[in-house]
Amino acid sequence: MKKIKFNNGIEMPQLGYGVYQVTPDEAERCVADALEVGYRMIDTAQAYNNEEGVGRAIKKSGIAREEIFIVSKVWISNYVYERAAQSIDESLKRLQTNYIDLMLLHQPFCDYYGAYRALQDAQKAGKLRSIGVSNFQPNHFIDLASNVDIVPAVNQVETHVFCQQQEANEYMKEFGTQIMSWGPLAEGRNGLFTNPILTEIGKRHNVSAAAVALRYLTQRNVIIIPKSTHRNRMEENFAIYNFTLTESEMEQILTLDLKKSAFFDHNDPKTVKMFMGWR
Ligand code: NAD
Repeated sequence: MKKIKFNNGIEMPQLGYGVYQVTPDEAERCVADALEVGYRMIDTAQAYNNEEGVGRAIKKSGIAREEIFIVSKVWISNYVYERAAQSIDESLKRLQTNYIDLMLLHQPFCDYYGAYRALQDAQKAGKLRSIGVSNFQPNHFIDLASNVDIVPAVNQVETHVFCQQQEANEYMKEFGTQIMSWGPLAEGRNGLFTNPILTEIGKRHNVSAAAVALRYLTQRNVIIIPKSTHRNRMEENFAIYNFTLTESEMEQILTLDLKKSAFFDHNDPKTVKMFMGWR
């Protein structure tokens, strides 16, 4: 498994498994399957309400804790310093661990400075090995990264063939922050699984359009966490290092970039209002 080194020297597997929209019980079964398939990085969040299931699966797997890289995220309802600090302890308890490898602020809304200070202090206390953010567009990202003691190791943003984040990634690189994709398959939107360019390239390598879309991101140095509750798809997504896209195939896939979200725009006032309803 390829590893990516952060600005703080810590390494993380480039390919992991995400558990968004998975019920707590299903999460335990899915993570157990994913670990058996070979995944060693799991992405969860306080808001997914399944940290307990993830923790149970990791414990029961018998795999040494230090071999598994756990990512979680603090939700906006916990964004004042004290609440965020307390919520980190609660996440640790639910995950049955005494450290989380990477803890992110889930969204760039509410008191994210207060919450980020709690992440910094928890890292200094050894409860978190690295910290970062998620869904921070360049405006919020540059603001935060310029004003904190510990520069985010990672920014997890929507990244897939239709929203490649090339420009946003340039700003992250200026701070030595690693891009991590959520929705690497765009959850199938925009016809990703039947896209003619991806399908055609896939035929040449004897793989699916999904595998091509994932491999493209890894060849662009993006960290990915595709989700599937089906073990055969977990295996398929885990096998993407068995082939390599050529330069000209990479160029072809670059043309799929629509440079906009397939979900929602974090800078749209309607989106901000929607999140205010989820505090
Ligand atoms: P995704 O792009 O990984 O798509 C998942 C869907 O694609 C699955 O439900 C399945 O139906 C399908 N799929 C998966 N593998 C396939 C294959 N090989 N062939 C055909 N279909 C396949 O979407 P996602 O779950 O939204 O994103 C992945 C992870 O990113 C999440 O589980 C979560 O951990 C994280 N995430 C984070 C945020 C955030 O705000 N930080 C938001 C969304 C997701």
